[in-house]
Amino acid sequence: MDVSNLLDGLNDKQRDAVAAPAQHMLILAGAGSGKTRVLVHRLAWLMQVETVAPYSLLAVTFTNKAAQEMRGRIESTIGVSLNNLWMGTFHGLSHRMLRAHYQQAGLPQGFQIIDSDDQYRLVKRVLKALNLDEKHWPAKQIQWFINGRKDDGQRPGMIDAGGDFSLQQMVKIYAAYQEMCDRAGLVDFAEILLRSFELLKNHADVRGHYQQRFRHILVDEFQDTNAIQYNWLRLLAGNAAKVMIVGDDDQSIYGWRGARVENIQQFLRDFDGAETIRLEQNYRSTATILKAANAVIANNSGRLGKDLWTDGSEGETISLYTAFNELDEARFIVSRIRSWHNQGGSLTESAILYRNNAQSRVLEEALIQEGLHYRIYGGLRFYERQEIKDALAYLRLISNRQDDAAMERIINTPARGIGDTTMNKVRLHARSEQQTLWQSLQLMLQQKQLSGRAANAIEQFMQLIDTLEQELTDLPLFEQAEHIIKQSGLYAMYQAEKGEKAQTRIENLNELVTACQNFNSSTVEDMTPLAAFLSQAALEAGDYQAEEHSDAVQLMTLHSAKGLEFPLVFICGLEEGMFPSQQSGDDPTRLEEERRLCYVGMTRAMQKLYLCHAESRRLYGQEQYHKASRFIREIPAEYLDEIRLTTQVSRPSQSNRFGSAASHVAFENTGFRLGQRVLHDKFGEGTVLNYEGTGPQSRIQVNFDQLGSKWLVTAYARLQAA
Ligand code: ATP
Ligand code: MG
Repeated sequence: MDVSNLLDGLNDKQRDAVAAPAQHMLILAGAGSGKTRVLVHRLAWLMQVETVAPYSLLAVTFTNKAAQEMRGRIESTIGVSLNNLWMGTFHGLSHRMLRAHYQQAGLPQGFQIIDSDDQYRLVKRVLKALNLDEKHWPAKQIQWFINGRKDDGQRPGMIDAGGDFSLQQMVKIYAAYQEMCDRAGLVDFAEILLRSFELLKNHADVRGHYQQRFRHILVDEFQDTNAIQYNWLRLLAGNAAKVMIVGDDDQSIYGWRGARVENIQQFLRDFDGAETIRLEQNYRSTATILKAANAVIANNSGRLGKDLWTDGSEGETISLYTAFNELDEARFIVSRIRSWHNQGGSLTESAILYRNNAQSRVLEEALIQEGLHYRIYGGLRFYERQEIKDALAYLRLISNRQDDAAMERIINTPARGIGDTTMNKVRLHARSEQQTLWQSLQLMLQQKQLSGRAANAIEQFMQLIDTLEQELTDLPLFEQAEHIIKQSGLYAMYQAEKGEKAQTRIENLNELVTACQNFNSSTVEDMTPLAAFLSQAALEAGDYQAEEHSDAVQLMTLHSAKGLEFPLVFICGLEEGMFPSQQSGDDPTRLEEERRLCYVGMTRAMQKLYLCHAESRRLYGQEQYHKASRFIREIPAEYLDEIRLTTQVSRPSQSNRFGSAASHVAFENTGFRLGQRVLHDKFGEGTVLNYEGTGPQSRIQVNFDQLGSKWLVTAYARLQAA
């Protein structure tokens, strides 16, 4: 056994942590200091040197993808299969527990997970059933309320609404929603955590089993655990397990979703004798990037405090680009990625990070135009696409007839003449009889409560589901998927639709079959392959990507970039009102969280970082003008390099940016030249940097000496030669 290679490539402090005796530990350190690396090596060390069985280890990661990667890395390092090792997200692990002990958890064996979109629909149904007007009780807000309460461990009966009418109503809706889920065997994301916590809390035998089993518990990204996750950990750990948590208070970015950075201090109080180890050397970023990120985060108060240094090179300065609008921003980014690629860099090494998912569309279009492959994390979720959810809903209803969410989705998809009037009757019946839709349909058919045509259609539909179930028995998973896609009529429906969109949907349905084929259910005990597949589809919605092009630009929100690293990083939309977001404007707590998000974004970059902002932006159909983000101003000027287009104009390769030679002439006809000094009656003197378009639409960019660069409509600019 070669122990030394587990300690190779680690500094002294990292080694101390990896080779520490069995004890509680807090690894508190800034970005890129090797926290995750330490966690992985510690796991390997425990198995190889301390001969702890994989069965006795539990590791919590922030994404499923991270868990898969870690598993692969450790397996190849120590050459042992880790099927027995519990490693995954809080949700994934809690779900596993619920499957194994579904009876004690009070769930039917075939319980299904619903995502936020399903939850939204169910909430709307509850509102209807309770006769509440959605204008006063917006479904989104209710969803937020329910999930928030669950994250804090509160059931409806535990909330004291006092004389607060509005709160009383919310609690009532919460209770009705929960009843509906329970009847249908449906579990939302927050419910997974809460149920699993209650399972441990209320069942001494289950708790005892796991407390005895897990001797070491390791948690990455601990700063973003919420109340219920923390309490779950405490119950699991009991008095015997040794817990190692790894985190960075400066990277706590989920406070808005109930994460509690205070859990770090709470841990030190609750876990006696925990040793704190601080890592201070950063191995990821150039000195410039690191110093700039440190300067930004220094503006936050109440930090636990860290000194992060690197002995790496200074590296290039950070480039700041002021775009005319979001299209210009996208074009600029794409042109930089193009040159990176031309110089031999791979696309996968580049990442574009943004604050809101809605920002991705313009970037995608620019990438497509330039012929660059890309992949989106989190945003465009494969398992959340309409056609995929339709197909999965068939599979769900086949495995559990009481699944109301699935039923709602497909009872009339493809259209089979079961209209809203009929369904409203059924919903009403279900509500008054405290039944699921399936049960109500059966009863109403028996009692001839439905009209002839609708009754016929419903009978046929229920028959179809029963027949499909029989036909699927004994088929391998991917053939099951293939079979229902064809037999349900989904395939024919999209084929009949024609057009590019329908074609994409058909391709996606085919991709679903491939995903089933590639799915390895062997690591999941206690579940049929179908149940295992459906659960992972719900839990890992954002992680799955069709592997079309392995070399692709990475697009994601700043939130989903946590823990990752890329040689080339672009952060775009750095504007007041975008990032920091509008809502955080006057609230110091939220503003600090936005700043941490900025810190997370900047510290993803290894070699080169670009910051971009646009002077005008069309988002959600509205044109907005924003000032540059305060975070840009918080970076000391010495690390920043403003990209001035004057230096680029002469380059012929840039001719695309500035249009054809003809438009160049047309621009010169306006009486201005690039690089010319001009005078504006309000903004003062400046230099012409750039222009766009011709004729009355044309705009001109001027870098004013006092105010910095601005885009103006040439016709109204009232500029004079200076
Ligand atoms: P984050 O806070 O962003 O999650 P982290 O603290 O988890 O960061 P890692 O991702 O573990 O940091 O490590 C950052 C990078 O530094 C990785 O590429 C890792 O392989 C490398 N690294 C870590 N420790 C060392 C070391 N001792 N020598 C060389 N490289 C290292
Ligand atoms: Mg990490």
